[in-house]
Amino acid sequence: MAAPLALEVSGLSRAYGSHRVVDRLDLEVAEGDIYGFLGPNGAGKTTTMRLILGLIRRDGGEVRIFGESDPVRSRSLVGGIVEGPRFYPYLSGIDNLRVLAAYSGGCTDARIIELLELVRMRDRANDPVRTYSLGMKQRLGIAQALLGSPRLLLLDEPSNGLDPKGMKEVRDLIQRLREDLKVTVFVSSHLLHELDLLCTRIGIIQDGVKVAEGTTEDLVQPGENLESCFLRLTEPGEAGQIR
Ligand code: ATP
Repeated sequence: MAAPLALEVSGLSRAYGSHRVVDRLDLEVAEGDIYGFLGPNGAGKTTTMRLILGLIRRDGGEVRIFGESDPVRSRSLVGGIVEGPRFYPYLSGIDNLRVLAAYSGGCTDARIIELLELVRMRDRANDPVRTYSLGMKQRLGIAQALLGSPRLLLLDEPSNGLDPKGMKEVRDLIQRLREDLKVTVFVSSHLLHELDLLCTRIGIIQDGVKVAEGTTEDLVQPGENLESCFLRLTEPGEAGQIR
């Protein structure tokens, strides 16, 4: 029997008023994937991630995480940062993690230190978060999302606003999560070059509908790069929408 998918989204829908923001969306993420989630501004990426994390109510459809559709049982399997990590600026990085761990049932200090080492923040752990660069805050946010030891991690634009060194640090961290901790990663971004370097598979949505899903080799045509492929698939009137 085939292993369950890390994430299976089927027929997922969500409207705000009369605006259907996520429209019968199907996605498949295999265990071990680094899955890049792309779409133009307002395509519904963040809404989809909030639905997967159970942060907002869905109007229809199903989300299975490692085969588990029960929202309570699947909660321990998934973690994420959506719309940026938020910290207490005057507390240190380690104290922020202690407070956030306490909210979600607790976590040993040894585990918190292990996570700080993983995200390369051990040496700055006792400094107040207000003194951190954006890249450090993003890495601390990833440590926060890992507090519950999820097997699937959702990251919403983790490299947004970072300089090239910061982007590389986040990219290296995501690769370590996959290789060393066997975490499956679902990451949204507008930084197509970053996703091209990082992802094993990608999914593209537009107006809440999937327009493509596969490896970059599957999607990119001869003479294209990921950017020109993305622009072609999301061009108004492009008849590439997949149900
Ligand atoms: P971006 O790339 O700009 O971050 P996105 O693909 O993440 O965009 P969403 O943030 O999911 O897109 O938003 C999709 C649509 O839903 C947008 O038109 C947005 O204005 C709308 N929307 C999102 N949240 C709400 C809300 N709470 N109430 C009403 N409309 C909302």
